[in-house]
Amino acid sequence: MGSIFACCCKGEEEEPSKKPLIEPNSLDLLTPDTFEIIKVLGRGNFGKVCLVKRKGMDTLYAMKILKKRIIEDKKQRVHTVTERKVLENSKCPFIAKLYYAFQNATKLYMVMEYLNGGELFFHLSKEGSFSEIRAKFYIAEILIGLNYLHSQGVIYRDLKPENILLDSDGHIRLTDFGLSKDGLDNESSKAYTFCGTPEYLAPEILRCQGHNKAVDYWSLGAVMYYMLSGAPPFYSKNKHEIFKNVLTKPIGRLPNITNEGNDLMQNLLKIDAKERLVSYDAITQDPWFYGFDWKALGEKKVKPPYKPKVKNPIDTRNFDRVFTQEPPAESVENEFVNPVPNQFSGFTYQFSAPSIQDSESR
Ligand code: AMP
Repeated sequence: MGSIFACCCKGEEEEPSKKPLIEPNSLDLLTPDTFEIIKVLGRGNFGKVCLVKRKGMDTLYAMKILKKRIIEDKKQRVHTVTERKVLENSKCPFIAKLYYAFQNATKLYMVMEYLNGGELFFHLSKEGSFSEIRAKFYIAEILIGLNYLHSQGVIYRDLKPENILLDSDGHIRLTDFGLSKDGLDNESSKAYTFCGTPEYLAPEILRCQGHNKAVDYWSLGAVMYYMLSGAPPFYSKNKHEIFKNVLTKPIGRLPNITNEGNDLMQNLLKIDAKERLVSYDAITQDPWFYGFDWKALGEKKVKPPYKPKVKNPIDTRNFDRVFTQEPPAESVENEFVNPVPNQFSGFTYQFSAPSIQDSESR
């Protein structure tokens, strides 16, 4: 089931935070033509993500292409600029790296590192579920990523296996911050947008009571349940049935999972956010993680339990064939038929190192 991305419990799109954004002039250099599209990797709510190669170079990237008209129609301008800012500012090894962001009259482009291990969802669908040891490794890396976002005043709001990618070694990377909320700098700040993906949506979002970082810990519990059982905890084909289950049905204990694993899941999936385990320190000291080397993990020194298989750098076998078999081309948007009056200010970006010249001479 896809994300719910629009309506705000307060009736309007949330205000952007007031942090300044940099727009370097050198980005005039970048156009869609700078990159050659090799394959389509996936699709999100407002556009697609393609494997691309910078022309004249060997460097591969994942380029997210968003249509301005759709973003305007769905009132997602603020969320889109927030996504770009979250990616730009991240100094966490478990969050996807952004290299460039640029725009033309009709589209927005985010050029990110290419994570060739694919979605955790892809691997879960293939394998059914993961061993507790494997799930523990992923949950621990995700936890560090979430804690980093929270320390920056950002709530993620769309943690799910489709948004957790694997790099070539098998470390996780969080992507898709199109529903994130930034600027929540103190503990009492709350957000009000009704958004997320039904299976992973916290009860306080459903109740429109205002929410904070606790919603990400709820989703962490739901992702943990999925990894260990092979299905999300409140699943139904009917969205309203999922919402009812989230609000009324506490999850049962999973057979064949340790008591410590079941206890942690139950503590993350507490319906009342005040009773939920929402402290990074408390989770790192939880008995399920007994003996875990958090320092080594944070430095990516713990060997991942699974290394994604690829034959060559452009092998896309870890992505759904529904997408990779699509023709590798951009749709044509007629800027005169479909005019978007404004530039998206604060969107354009260039990663400071390596610079364009540096990377070209590599
Ligand atoms: P998004 O719109 O960000 O949810 O992306 C849609 C899909 O594109 C994801 O679920 C992934 O399958 C793929 N994707 C997004 N970012 C990357 C990336 N950096 N590397 C490889 N694949 C990606």
